[in-house]
Amino acid sequence: MASNLLSSFKRALPHKRKELRAFLKKFDKKFIPGIKKYVDPADAETWAETDCLSCANCCKVMTPTFTKADLKRISAHLGMTESAFYDRWLETDKDNGDKVNRIQPCQFLDLKTNMCNIYEVRPEDCAKFPHFKRTPFADFNHIHTQNIEYCPATFKFITRMKEKIERDYEW
Ligand code: SF4
Ligand code: SF4
Repeated sequence: MASNLLSSFKRALPHKRKELRAFLKKFDKKFIPGIKKYVDPADAETWAETDCLSCANCCKVMTPTFTKADLKRISAHLGMTESAFYDRWLETDKDNGDKVNRIQPCQFLDLKTNMCNIYEVRPEDCAKFPHFKRTPFADFNHIHTQNIEYCPATFKFITRMKEKIERDYEW
């Protein structure tokens, strides 16, 4: 059964998608000086009311990109060769050459607890997701635009960013 977090997100998204995408698109052309003063509170407020263990939608419907270092670290952790690890679970994206999961949900997600079975050695992409504090913010607007479709935390974070910035700026 979908969590409350996920189901309320899915209900809200169709009503807000257009305005949040339009807000993020503005970062292609506009610069907000000192954006950290908006990012930090929006990030803190979002995580204060978001429990990822009641969601795990990123692990269920998206795939991380596995770097060479990820492949090496995770396969060693599992006692496998890198090629055996690749052959068992990964494939190469034909558009960009990224090494990605072949199946969703991710093979390392425990579907009963929503916990990651390789948490300590998980891909860097997973550890950094959903990239709220990555800089410069404007370089990640396309990532947030994509993640709004799947991630309740991103939806909340961008909603807050929009409210805070539009309080101070007309743009
Ligand atoms: S990062 Fe987003 S999609 Fe992933 S579990 Fe947390 S709220 Fe859900
Ligand atoms: S490796 Fe772990 S954190 Fe990353 S997608 Fe799989 S279950 Fe989620």
